[in-house]
Amino acid sequence: MQTETQTMKALMQEKWNKRPLIISGPCSAETEDQLVETATRLAKTGKVDMLRAGIWKPRTKPGLFEGNGIVALPWLAKAKQITGLATTVEVATGKHVEDALKFNVDMLWIGARTTVNPFSVQEVADALRGVDVPVLIKNPIHPDLELWSGAIERLQKVGVKQVGMIHRGFSSYGNTEFRNAPMWHLPIEMKRRYPDMPLICDPSHICGNRSSLQSVAQKSIDLDFDGLMLESHIDPDNAWSDAKQQVTPERLLEMLTDLVWRHESTTEQEFITALTTLREQINQVDDELLTLLGQRMKLSDKIGEYKKNNNITILQTNRWNDILERAFKKGDALGLTKEFITKYFDAVHLESIQHQNKIMNS
Ligand code: PEP
Ligand code: MN
Repeated sequence: MQTETQTMKALMQEKWNKRPLIISGPCSAETEDQLVETATRLAKTGKVDMLRAGIWKPRTKPGLFEGNGIVALPWLAKAKQITGLATTVEVATGKHVEDALKFNVDMLWIGARTTVNPFSVQEVADALRGVDVPVLIKNPIHPDLELWSGAIERLQKVGVKQVGMIHRGFSSYGNTEFRNAPMWHLPIEMKRRYPDMPLICDPSHICGNRSSLQSVAQKSIDLDFDGLMLESHIDPDNAWSDAKQQVTPERLLEMLTDLVWRHESTTEQEFITALTTLREQINQVDDELLTLLGQRMKLSDKIGEYKKNNNITILQTNRWNDILERAFKKGDALGLTKEFITKYFDAVHLESIQHQNKIMNS
């Protein structure tokens, strides 16, 4: 037993340091047969390092399948014994941690709904005091990096040495394209804060569907993530939770085979990462510019109302000259040419006139 534990530790250490780490398995451990068959088919792909399965499921509404709990832990142990795959489960309480460790689960993860709650994270951390097990922390459901960092700090404070992060996207009202918006600049910021900490992407919970899994997984690889957690199921459509986003182990193999792992040379990887990171920042700046332009037009609308009420023309040449002169001066200091400033302000001014025109004539 002693040797087996040591071997598993050594394996974990090796996997932990070897990138990319591929974690897969069902959203929920439903039955022993389902779990063992999933694990067997995953092991056959030869590309999966670890088996995941939820056994305590935090569900939004009561009445949904909330996991089999402790009964499912021996199933995980059996799947590991048959396939050799290391195992990982989600823990949300101190009791979960104790139970999972009793059954020699190799790695634990803290779910997005737990990361939001410092009391829960602290309870999990207290149960981990003095225990040498790797723990991955999912981002909180809403985009709050301080909470994510706070959870990391709580685990580090009790002495957990192998801490990693899982990016599973952020929930917000009206998310459409994704179940949880990836907001890539946020995990990028976490990479900056914790350069030595593994960062895994969970495309399944970001997408919420099967069709965009591949592109999200690829994007995370291009951003130099250290691995993937992807949900898989022997019969995805009939899964007891997250049916829409799970894939069969065989489909998973196709996806993993099609991914481009840009690892030919370190310098190239560095280049790709730097480029993608900069592009993410540009997207961010563009979003901010658009928001500001929207605000500018709202101000212009207000002026339109005043002009209408006071019977004043839309165009006032002096004001327009002032705007341009101000912009030329400021632009010059920022390295922007007069030509660009003129084109840009012409477009903005024209749009503004159209807005006011609408107001005047409504
Ligand atoms: C899960 O991994 O099945 C899960 C519940 O994920 P999350 O915590 O990201 O919602
Ligand atoms: Mn799930």
